[in-house]
Formats: sequence, structure tokens, C-alpha cells
Amino acid sequence: MKKAIMALILFVPLLAPAAEAVPFEKYFVDRTMRIDVFHTGNAQEELFTIDRVIQEGPWAGNPRRLIVPFELGRYLLRVSDVASGTLIYTKGFDSYFGEYKTTEPGVNGVKKTFSESLLIPFPKNKVRMEVLLRDRENRPLPLFSSEIDPSDMFIVRETPVRGVRVIEQVKNGPPATKVDLVILGEGYTEADWNKFREDLARFSGYLLDAEPYRTYRDRFNITGLLKPSAESGCDEPSYGSFRNTALGASFDSFGSERYMLSDDNRAWRDVAGRVPYDAVMIMVNTARYGGGGIYNLYCTFSSDNQWQQYLCLHEFGHSFTGLADEYYTSAVAYNEFYPAGIEPLEPNITALLDPKNLKWKELMTKKTAVPTLWEKAAYEAMEKAYQKKRGEMNEKIAALKRAGAPQAEIDALQAQSEEMSRRNGLEVNAFFKKSRFQGKVGAFEGAGYAAKGLYRPMLDCIMFSRGLRPYCKICEAAVASTIRYYSE
Ligand SMILES: [Zn+2]
Repeated sequence: MKKAIMALILFVPLLAPAAEAVPFEKYFVDRTMRIDVFHTGNAQEELFTIDRVIQEGPWAGNPRRLIVPFELGRYLLRVSDVASGTLIYTKGFDSYFGEYKTTEPGVNGVKKTFSESLLIPFPKNKVRMEVLLRDRENRPLPLFSSEIDPSDMFIVRETPVRGVRVIEQVKNGPPATKVDLVILGEGYTEADWNKFREDLARFSGYLLDAEPYRTYRDRFNITGLLKPSAESGCDEPSYGSFRNTALGASFDSFGSERYMLSDDNRAWRDVAGRVPYDAVMIMVNTARYGGGGIYNLYCTFSSDNQWQQYLCLHEFGHSFTGLADEYYTSAVAYNEFYPAGIEPLEPNITALLDPKNLKWKELMTKKTAVPTLWEKAAYEAMEKAYQKKRGEMNEKIAALKRAGAPQAEIDALQAQSEEMSRRNGLEVNAFFKKSRFQGKVGAFEGAGYAAKGLYRPMLDCIMFSRGLRPYCKICEAAVASTIRYYSE
């Protein structure tokens, strides 16, 4: 009880201003202020320092929604007008560093530095920027604070990076009333230009043909941006293979072979900043299975894998809406990603601490028991067998690559691996088709990398298993409210 009251007291000042809209013209001009920072530390301590401040083009965000209505992200950015003390902008976000903290080196005290950028509408007057970090109980506590003077002569106003090619793929209106999505090409050379155009059209189509994006398709602007790379593909450290590419994408992030991220923040920000953007996709020119998505940062996906469509929609679910992974049988690099006994912030998983007050109770299927006792043991046995085979196969491929084996031999093994993955997909589909819980909303144990103690809303969802499947009803509703936040 005491805990609940504490949480209430701490949350009220953050949520209160949402009732009153902040007048954009009073505090901001229609430009973007990009604040580049260094974020350093480990699981025990962390600190921010400002690198530089840059003025970029028009503000992409919604000028009518300057205070974010969602309680999401490990970090919370707050901007106040110094003269009046008024809170004028907030946004929740996650970061590469935020994930690093939960990995083994981070937990063991190894410090690392990441470059990050915080984007705010360009203020007219002096502002105080604060970054808050949520503690174990998800309470946002002060971490960093600095005053920023928009008339500072050191604010960088130089011409944007040269040599970036821009394709207006979908244009529905001004940035202030639309979701402005940029799709950045990574690992495409000058000679891959036509491939980039085709891939851009294909992935724009995947997104806008899937619900709920389809319903809101006229609320999207999509721009393709390509800074050609010197070489095709991206880095694959466990294969001993490195490529000189424009945006620095790499497999094996945090040691997880299929996790593909870019830690070259400046490189991709400089390219994205050519146009106003609310959301970023990094489309990586590779056939190897991989991707990643970090809330309000970016998502990545492979352009030519059999699961490409799934990868794009699943990873975008993380980066755009802050959806949690609902799966729990694949290995991940994190340690206790969701602390036991704490309700996660994400809309699509729950610790079920108060079963009568499920966060998705409005969408529950009538007469469904909570928790919902599904065919869990049989599913786990099937997945365990596949994960073991997949692990062995990955080891084999990596060993051959490192040993410099003939390409034909590697290709044959990779084809075998993809075929194994395809069959597993069919097996999973057949399994769910048979279940009597198909299509029902309840609380299914097994979610957020945990077999016990965390629950997902439906048997299956694109955030749970691989393949051409929709978002579950809860994820779909969360994506729809994110679209509305940017556009109305
Ligand atoms: Zn879902």
C-alpha cells in the first residue's frame, strides 16, 4: 500500500500537465534541436555529457501533443522553460546503453560509452533539459540536467551531410499532422541504387498493408534516404567479417548472433536529419536473418531474408510503439530484463500482480480464465528441440566462416539453416491452429524472455512468434494510439 502511494505522488507531477496543451508557438520555432550526448556507465552508475547541439530542419512531431501521453521507455526526457518553469516537452525513450546495462559486462561493472541524440522542438528561449531514469519500480528519478540557450553561438548550423539521395515514397501531408517515417538504406553501394528503390517500395508496402497501419495509411509520410556504402552488407563479427558501410550496422550485438544494431549514432542521425522524422527504420542489405528495435530510437531488419516482412513489422513494433517481446524460448543477451514482481510498462505483457485489473481487461474475451492455461509444456518441448538445432547450426556456420571455408559450402549450410527455420515456422503455425485458445484474449504465461511470472494477451502475435501473422489485439490497439499521438 505504501508503495502505491509513493508511486502516485511521484507520477502525478509528470502526468498533470497533459491535461493542458502547451502552446507550440509560444515556446518553439518550427525547427528541430538535436542534442548529441555521450552516455557512459554500467549497471551500477551512468552519466550523460553534452557533445554538441545542432539545428536541423522543420519539427516532425505533433505540435498539439508536446507532453507525451504514454508511460513508456526506461528514460524520460523533460524540457522546461527556464523563465517560467513551465514543462513544455516530454518524451520517453530507450537506448543502446539502456540495453547494454542489462548484459553481462554491464552487470559486472564494465563501463562503456555510447553516442546518443535527443531531439526536441527548437526553443525560443532558454530551456532546462532533464533526463530521468526509471528505477526498478519504474519510478522516473533525476539523472541529468542542463540548461540550453538557443542563442548560443556554438549551436551547429552547418549544411547537412552531402551525398544523400532522397526518395519521397509516400507523401500525405505536412509533418505536423503525419507520422514521418524514414527508411535508411544500409550496406547498399552506388551500384545497388535500383535494389534500394525496390526494397524501399517493398517494405513501405509491407508496413502499410498490415493492420493497424493499413487503417491509418493516409497518416504516414515515408521517405527513403540512401548514403551509398563503399561495400555491400554489414559487419558480422562472429564470422570475422567486416564491411565498410555508411551507417555502421552489425550483427552479434551484445553477443547475440541475430541481433543487428548500429552504434554509429552520428552517422545515421546525419543521414536521417535530411528530412523531418518521427520514426526510423534501418534497412540492411543482407540475406542473413537479423534485426533489432529500440523504443523511440530505430529498428533494423534484413532486406532479403525469408522472414523479412516479419522482421520489419516485429522490430518496428518495438521502436515505434514500445511493445515488449512476447517470446520467451529464444536465447537473449539480457539478464533479468524485467525484474520479478514488478509490473512492466509495456502494454502487451503483464506480471499479473492484480489479475482482476488486467491492463487489457477492456479487450478480454468473455469467460476466459486468468491465467489462461494453454498447451505450454508441449509448445516448450517443440521449441526447445528447434532452438538446440538452431544453436548448433549457427556454431557450424560461424566456424566455417572463420576458417575461410569455400563459399559454396557455407551457402549450402545457410540454405539448410533457412529451411530448418521455415519448417519450424510451419510447425508453430500448425500447433497454434489446433489450440482451443486461438483468437482469445486472456493471460498466457510465458512472455518477455521469461517462462514464468510474465503473461501475454493472446496465444500468438507477431511479437511472439515468427511468420506472417498479425499483431495481437492489444498490440494492434497500442500501435493505433501511437499513430494517433503523432497525427491528431
Ligand atoms: Zn501482441
